[in-house]
Amino acid sequence: RQSKSKMPKYPGLDRYILVEKMGDGAFSNVYRAKDTLNRMEEVAIKVVRKFEMNSNQRANILKEVQIMRQLDHPNIVSLIDFSESPQFYYIVLELCPGGELFHQIVRLTYFSEDLSRHVIKQVAEAIEFLHETSGVVHRDIKPENLLFYPCEYKPTKNPKPRQPGDEDKVDEGEFIPGVGAGGIGKIKIADFGLSKVIWDSQTMTPCGTVGYTAPEIVKDERYSKSVDMWALGCVLYTLLCGFPPFYDESIQVLTEKVARGQYTFLSPWWDDISKSAQDLVSHLLTVDPDKRYTIGQFLNHPWIKQTDETTHAAA
Ligand code: ADP
Ligand code: MG
Repeated sequence: RQSKSKMPKYPGLDRYILVEKMGDGAFSNVYRAKDTLNRMEEVAIKVVRKFEMNSNQRANILKEVQIMRQLDHPNIVSLIDFSESPQFYYIVLELCPGGELFHQIVRLTYFSEDLSRHVIKQVAEAIEFLHETSGVVHRDIKPENLLFYPCEYKPTKNPKPRQPGDEDKVDEGEFIPGVGAGGIGKIKIADFGLSKVIWDSQTMTPCGTVGYTAPEIVKDERYSKSVDMWALGCVLYTLLCGFPPFYDESIQVLTEKVARGQYTFLSPWWDDISKSAQDLVSHLLTVDPDKRYTIGQFLNHPWIKQTDETTHAAA
C-alpha cells in the first residue's frame, strides 16, 4: 500500500484526495480517492494521460464518457464526474472496492456453480440492459473489466477435491452478498473504452439512420451484440473451471483455435460440473453468431433460472 505522500498531484483535481492506485491501463492510472466536497465519500478516478494520446485516442475517451453518461444500471459502474486539464482527463467513477473479478479467479481454484451463477447473472443483467435498453455493445467483457463489492467470507465446510498445483489456493467459501470483506457480493461492468452505440435509445433506430436502414446494418447490429455473448461464454467457462476455454502460448495457434471454436470440457476439471452448465456454455461458445444465444435466451436457460436450492437437491 502506497503512503499518501507518494501519491502524485494532478492539476485541477484538488477536490479529491488520492488514497492508493487500484489499477492501470495503456494511458491511464486508476486511483481510489476521497471526495472532500461530499463527506469524504470514496470514489475511483481514472486519470488518463491526454498528452500521450493522438486526436483519435482522445476522441475515444470522450466517447467512453459520453456512453457511460447514458447508462444507469445497478450492475454497471456509474460515472460520477468528468473533467480535464491541459494534460489529463479525469473520469470519476463509482468505486468498486473489491477490484477485479480476475483476481478472484486467480485466488480461488474455481467458483462453485452457485457462485458462478451469482456472478454471471449480474453480468448478464447488465448486458441485457446494454443490448435491449441502451443500444450499446460493450465489446470488452472479460474478468479484468468486471469489478465487485466484497462480502463476508466463510471457508466452505466441504471443499471440493483439489487438483495438483492448487495447494496454496483457498476455497471460495460461503458468501453473504453485500456484507464484510473477502467474498463476492455485487458485480459491476466497467471499462467502456471499446464500447459502441449500435442504435439510438431515443428513437429506437440504428444509429444515424431513420427508416432507410439496410439489412446488412441490421445484421451488423445483431453480430456486434453476439460478440458480448461469446465473451460472456468465455467468462462463464472460466468461472466454472478456473482456466479459459481457449489458450495457447502462440497467438497464431490461439487465433486458429478461437476461429474454429476449438475448446473442450477438459477432464477431470469438468467432470463434476453439471450438464446443464455445459449446455449453456456451449450455446455461447458457438462459432456461428446466428446460432449463438442472445442475452434473452441466456437469461431463460434452465441453469440460470434454477435457484441454489435446486442445485443442491440435484447433487
Ligand atoms: P483500461 O481501459 O485501461 O483497461 P479500465 O477502465 O478497465 O481501463 O480500468 C483499469 C483498471 O482499473 C481496472 O481493470 C480495475 O482494476 C481498475 N478500476 C477501474 N475502474 C474501477 C472502479 N470503479 N473501482 C475499482 N477499480 C477500478
Ligand atoms: Mg480495462
